[in-house]
Amino acid sequence: MSAVNNVLIVGGGIGGLCAAIALRRKGIAVDLIELKSEWTVYGVGIIQQSNVVREMAKLGVLDGYLDAAFAFEDVAIYGPAGQQLARIPGQRLAGPQYPANVGISRLALHKVLSETALELGANVRLGLSVESLEDQGDSVDVLFTDDSRGRYDLVIGADGLFSKVRQLLFGDTYTPRFTGQAVWRYNFPRDPQIDHLANYQSAAGNAGLVPLAGNLMYMFLTSHEPTNPWMAPATMAEQMRERLKGFTGLIGELREQITDSSQVVYKPMEVIFVNEPWYRGRVLLIGDAAHATTPHLGQGAGMAIEDAIVLSEELTTDAGVEQQLQRFMQRRFDRCKYISESSILAGDKEMQHDRDFDRIGLVKQMLSRTAEPI
Ligand SMILES: Cc1cc2nc3c(=O)[nH]c(=O)nc-3n(C[C@H](O)[C@H](O)[C@H](O)COP(=O)(O)OP(=O)(O)OC[C@H]3O[C@@H](n4cnc5c(N)ncnc54)[C@H](O)[C@@H]3O)c2cc1C
Repeated sequence: MSAVNNVLIVGGGIGGLCAAIALRRKGIAVDLIELKSEWTVYGVGIIQQSNVVREMAKLGVLDGYLDAAFAFEDVAIYGPAGQQLARIPGQRLAGPQYPANVGISRLALHKVLSETALELGANVRLGLSVESLEDQGDSVDVLFTDDSRGRYDLVIGADGLFSKVRQLLFGDTYTPRFTGQAVWRYNFPRDPQIDHLANYQSAAGNAGLVPLAGNLMYMFLTSHEPTNPWMAPATMAEQMRERLKGFTGLIGELREQITDSSQVVYKPMEVIFVNEPWYRGRVLLIGDAAHATTPHLGQGAGMAIEDAIVLSEELTTDAGVEQQLQRFMQRRFDRCKYISESSILAGDKEMQHDRDFDRIGLVKQMLSRTAEPI
């Protein structure tokens, strides 16, 4: 009998949902709690690269996921006027019949993952968090914020950048750090040219266009915001247009269509890395709770998804929990640290306007490292 038969997952985001699916498929009982009482996500998209497509196949959700996504092959890098600087062909890691990469709306991804987790019997409670955790050595006693209680073989903190579970485990040792940059995003009808991931580099920042569906794509833009300013909601469209001034070509044309401030999704970049094992006793962190990074390499959610798969593989070995979690860390720590540090480096180099920095080389290196088996 395996050492872990029932788990509590705190957080119903991408990492928590993938953990719920992977663990249910291995026959482990899953309770999942989510702080939001309305279980939804914001409406722009996400890039999922070849390693993620491979993991979605392992999760057993690939067909539904691909139906909800826009599959593409190449990643291209352009100058500010649209001149192509590099084109990196995709790697079909899930098998030759499946695409290399995917763009998917966060809403569509949430729907596929949450429906699958529920179908597989994960017991989900919304509007709920943990108040306290007491590790008894052979189990964890949990007090929930509604005063109910539970006992679990393992508690998984998948509660994101501002993780309560991390706080309960490590106190204030780790707190999110603002990097100096922010990301702006906006949806558009898909332009037929955007059948691949298109990155545009300029001195002011980097922009990109990501296909999400036949009729949908989104633009992202990174900008340097050293003071992490508060911005009046009604001015967001104007502020995004202002920061896109250095671009001509397609990005310049689209800039003029950014008119609805309520549709601008703005996020300051905040990072954290738990630089020691991500567990104590029978409580473990995965995803952004342990290693939130910047979006420069488009791998944050990828690392959360990989965490979930690797955890499900390790928890069903014959070893004891301590050994299982050690093995999990051996397989995850260096890989996530590499993604975390490389993503932050790419952002730092943007802020320093370092023209000698080989960003294309970094992207190629990341693709080759993430293609390796975990
Ligand atoms: C601007 C931007 C663009 C990005 N683009 C990409 C991309 O293209 N590709 C990519 O792979 N990654 C991308 N990422 C990163 C990606 O979004 C994250 O890495 C990913 O969402 C992490 O998943 P998670 O489940 O660990 O955390 P989250 O997605 O943050 O989920 C955490 C969940 O826990 C819940 N929660 C929080 N606190 C509690 C609590 N106390 N109790 C219970 N529940 C709680 C939250 O409500 C949420 O549902 C991007 C990130 C940003 C900021």
